[in-house]
Amino acid sequence: MSHTFVVIAEARGGKLRQVSLEAVHAARLAKEDGDRVAAVLIGSQAASMAEELAAYADEVRVVDRPELEAYNPEAYGAAVFGVLDALNPQAVFLGHTAVGRDLAPMIAARLDAGQISDVVAIERDGAGEPAYVRPLYAGKAFETKKFAGGGPRVVTIRPNNFPAAEPLPAPGTVVQADYAAPPDLRTVVKDVVRKASGAVDLTEARIVVSGGRGVKSADGFKPLEELAAVLNAAVGASRGACDAGYCDYALQIGQTGKVVTPELYIACGISGAIQHLAGMSRSRVIVAINKDPEAPIFKVADYGIVGDLFEVVPLLTEEFKKA
Ligand code: FAD
Repeated sequence: MSHTFVVIAEARGGKLRQVSLEAVHAARLAKEDGDRVAAVLIGSQAASMAEELAAYADEVRVVDRPELEAYNPEAYGAAVFGVLDALNPQAVFLGHTAVGRDLAPMIAARLDAGQISDVVAIERDGAGEPAYVRPLYAGKAFETKKFAGGGPRVVTIRPNNFPAAEPLPAPGTVVQADYAAPPDLRTVVKDVVRKASGAVDLTEARIVVSGGRGVKSADGFKPLEELAAVLNAAVGASRGACDAGYCDYALQIGQTGKVVTPELYIACGISGAIQHLAGMSRSRVIVAINKDPEAPIFKVADYGIVGDLFEVVPLLTEEFKKA
């Protein structure tokens, strides 16, 4: 019997988030041949994004309403439940993002499903149940879990750990889904004020230039921003730098901040505390710049530069400008 694997897609600023396509890839890894992948897209003016998503999913159910522009748990919950009731899914995949972490347990309760969260890999052994790998103890260990029984399941995947899905040979269908606003809807978010920085999204950036307490001041971030601009990178920070008031907490990477897995992570003046490593140690290549040769960050770095970041970072910027 063919099953439906549902992916709850996410959009931000009128664009599909990369994690949506990673979730499609994860769903394809978990499903059996003959099962189909349906994506759900909720938002406002979502028509073109739904068409884009249809390149990757057998079917896209879109709930497109002006009042659904900003995330609201009750409204999004109602929209998702309506679609899931119609699709009767075997599994639901979401990004392990702020929205995904909020919606996933609501969906699991609704479907009476088990949930495995923050999955970084899916292993298959022949035709058996897929095994889901997730980090523990801030990335110091990994556990592998399987769902027991044949009931529905909910999975959240950590962004930047699965490749984006490849397009299907032929695009799927786009279906407008019905939506009835819940009667007791409360508006919590009235407006979202985005920073006018034009910066690259930290969690989806291919390159991250990150500063720690070693930058010594808010102005100390300037050389890092210049390097980031040349590399088309996002700027991140340690909690040390955030706590010291050198930058916004939105930049914090680590156990209590964002988790990033870019192709290149450049850590400048960051000591490498375990809580920071929890947010970046799965980056593909790590470069550390620190004046202390004993700094723990060098244990995880692929390339270490022992030196003063205020000398090294501008030199890197000049060299990359030439490239
Ligand atoms: P420091 O440890 O002070 O290191 C500064 C480094 O800069 C030093 O290694 C120094 O040699 C170097 N340096 C100084 N000047 C220069 C220079 N001119 N050039 C080159 N190098 C220089 N931390 C996080 O980052 N993210 C988290 O999410 C997080 N969550 C936490 C949760 C909990 C529950 C707790 C207890 C802690 C958490 N922390 C987190 C804090 C963490 O333990 C560290 O305190 C923090 O990461 C240190 O930040 P830092 O490396 O910038 O500062």
